[in-house]
Amino acid sequence: MYEFSMTEEQELLLESLEEFMARGNYMEYFKECDHEHKYPEKACNDYIEAGYHLLPLPEEYGGDELDLVSNVLMTMKMYELGWPALALPGSFLQVDNILAYGNKEQQDKVIGEAVAGRKGYTLGFTEPQAGSDNSAMATRATHKDGKVILNGCKTFNTGASVTKYMMCMAREYEVDNPYKDMSWYLVPLDAPGVKITPIPKVGCHCIPTCEVRLDDVELDEGALVGKKCMGFYQLMKNFETERLMSCAVNVGEAKCAYNVAAAYAGQRVQFGDIIGNKQIIQEKVCDMRIKILAMENFTLNCAWRKMQGEKMGVDISLLKRYTGKAAFEVIDDAMQIMGGIGYTQDCIIDRLWRDQRGFRIFAGSEEIMVHSSARQLIKEAAAKK
Ligand SMILES: Cc1cc2nc3c(=O)[nH]c(=O)nc-3n(C[C@H](O)[C@H](O)[C@H](O)COP(=O)(O)OP(=O)(O)OC[C@H]3O[C@@H](n4cnc5c(N)ncnc54)[C@H](O)[C@@H]3O)c2cc1C
Repeated sequence: MYEFSMTEEQELLLESLEEFMARGNYMEYFKECDHEHKYPEKACNDYIEAGYHLLPLPEEYGGDELDLVSNVLMTMKMYELGWPALALPGSFLQVDNILAYGNKEQQDKVIGEAVAGRKGYTLGFTEPQAGSDNSAMATRATHKDGKVILNGCKTFNTGASVTKYMMCMAREYEVDNPYKDMSWYLVPLDAPGVKITPIPKVGCHCIPTCEVRLDDVELDEGALVGKKCMGFYQLMKNFETERLMSCAVNVGEAKCAYNVAAAYAGQRVQFGDIIGNKQIIQEKVCDMRIKILAMENFTLNCAWRKMQGEKMGVDISLLKRYTGKAAFEVIDDAMQIMGGIGYTQDCIIDRLWRDQRGFRIFAGSEEIMVHSSARQLIKEAAAKK
């Protein structure tokens, strides 16, 4: 269906990331950050100093406009090398969104944050009563004297307490159909009426996840991002990229676990022989590797086709469902191969197991990936009959 071989630039980029990570020797530091729920500031500063965070950004902001496939390769590599989940500076997704929908002033604000190595914004669509069901969103935008006033409650906002802005979805209550009634607003999180409360969670400890309450938060009408009442459709475009990038993390984390566990199988001696000589362990190693190859190829295939302009909603839903589960199975098998050590907090598998589990839930759960793809698949098959 497609041909894929890395360009010389891509190969050099991945080599340079390997050298960067080897030089920094961050593994003990990442462990400490995870245990203490700290942002890995020291490693992020090194990454920013080396200029890697600029690569996905547009040239006019000093970036390299790295293409989607290269971004996916870079993301896979960083997580394969053990970077903590969701804590990598420089977001292709946020730049993609704001360039697609934001005006120049909004682009300067968000991309300005990215240039400084900070998260451009936290995405605000989930609400306590509106998780998978976006149509249940109730945050309200009221318009008065040239101002927009927001009231509502957003939840599970990644990085809200360390980010300047929220890309907030609100209902206009102009029409009954909720999908044709939502708009995006860029909300400064230091505005009066915003209250941010962190939510303790199982993993992804290097970045906070928060609830954000909005009580009479008054903004200029210029805070609207894109078209009024088109927010849901803008979100759908966002989802394609967000889901794809989350799949790249799944692949990277699975590879990280595989590398550690397969090497351990070749060293750990029990009953006078390495456990890697037992067929039941070999079977796990082979199955892990098959899943990694399938995930990696499927992810790059989707990235490449998206880059050619193909509509990828359905395939990326399938990819997210597959890589979320397969990566977790790989990491879980890695824990099993490592035995008791794999279950200790001293071993990186502990963090990967907790962090990657979240990727089966956010940006669309694996059940919702069925909901968003199966009807289309069946319709397409029926149309060919
Ligand atoms: C670590 C983390 C970070 C997050 N970051 C953000 C963020 O930055 N911004 C943001 O807006 N949100 C964020 N989220 C929220 C995330 O997108 C939601 O948790 C997710 O969409 C699921 O919604 P929910 O938790 O309300 O579960 P629910 O929608 O209540 O679902 C509960 C269960 O029911 C299943 N289910 C629901 N509907 C159906 C259906 N129709 N068919 C079959 N099964 C169904 C789900 O798959 C799930 O298993 C984050 C979540 C986490 C855990």
